[in-house]
Amino acid sequence: MALHDKFGRQITDLRISVTDRCNFRCVYCRSADPENYRAKDEILSWPELYRLAGIFKTLGVRKMRVTGGEPLVRPGVEEFISHLRDLGVEDISMTTNGHLLSERCARLVSAGLQRINISLDSLDAAKFERITRTKLFASVMNGIDVVQASALAPAKINAVLVRGINDNEVQDFAVFARERDVVMRFIEFMPLDADHHWNRSLVVPAAEVHRRIHARWPLEEIPHHYSETARKYRFADGAPGEIGLIAPVTQPFCGHCSRIRLTADGKIRTCLFSKEDHDLRSLLREGAGDEDLVTYITSVVMEKEEGHRINEKDFHPPNRSMVFIGG
Ligand code: SAM
Ligand code: SF4
Repeated sequence: MALHDKFGRQITDLRISVTDRCNFRCVYCRSADPENYRAKDEILSWPELYRLAGIFKTLGVRKMRVTGGEPLVRPGVEEFISHLRDLGVEDISMTTNGHLLSERCARLVSAGLQRINISLDSLDAAKFERITRTKLFASVMNGIDVVQASALAPAKINAVLVRGINDNEVQDFAVFARERDVVMRFIEFMPLDADHHWNRSLVVPAAEVHRRIHARWPLEEIPHHYSETARKYRFADGAPGEIGLIAPVTQPFCGHCSRIRLTADGKIRTCLFSKEDHDLRSLLREGAGDEDLVTYITSVVMEKEEGHRINEKDFHPPNRSMVFIGG
């Protein structure tokens, strides 16, 4: 059985947010306000997540990414990854802020994690700490080193560029890719920040990032699968490392989207910018059988939006920020 939407796109990729909690407060994601997490019983339990992962697998989902909030703050994440491996999920990955990675990397690898994305928005410790509102630059860098010495290498490093904050570091990040042999991915800032500070002038277009790196170190495009969100480049001079450009704002890739999201509180989101969520948790907790869940998921996916409409005049940001959606 396979999941298709009404535009003929097949859904093969599920992002599972295992927690809405996070030990960082990145300015482009969470608010500086006090904690506003969901109550524990609103969050899907591990057995509920195990069951749903199995159902999505039978529906043809081949890739599952564990995210959050910060996935490593929820105890039991390694066991969940082992469960995904035992289910036979083809591609198991995680997105993390990296702060707890140095102590957890070995366990994640033996649980079956295959790929990892680590967020790193500045190479300058003071600036990193201003962006994330933490004092944890050194532990994240240490986490990256541990990953690079593990079976998860090469790490994908995600930087969200915000004009006037870290856009002056594009070439420094390229040097980081070359020296550390990592995949350095630049993500356009999207209107998903809790404080609603996003505006178009803060977005650093991927084309600009390409121009600035290419001027110094010519880049060659690496062919990519049509459903991949990143354009990938290698350095023409043969240096190690890779560059990825993710341009949801200036070059939307909705036409090839193969992805849906499950939020920590058990809602399906068919698009990052969906106006509404679909309440799988209630159905699950009312005692639905597997067939009812399959019918519901199939009908929700059928209604997946054609595109995100960020560039339309009447666009309104969703009421959930990235930390509550699961990036
Ligand atoms: N806490 C983990 C982390 O930071 O990697 C995983 C969750 S985080 C929400 C997932 C990804 O979303 C991160 O790479 C983060 O940089 C990105 N992100 C958060 N807010 C964003 C925004 N407004 N625009 C673009 N990317 C954003
Ligand atoms: Fe936390 Fe990740 Fe959001 Fe930063 S981007 S506040 S680390 S969830």
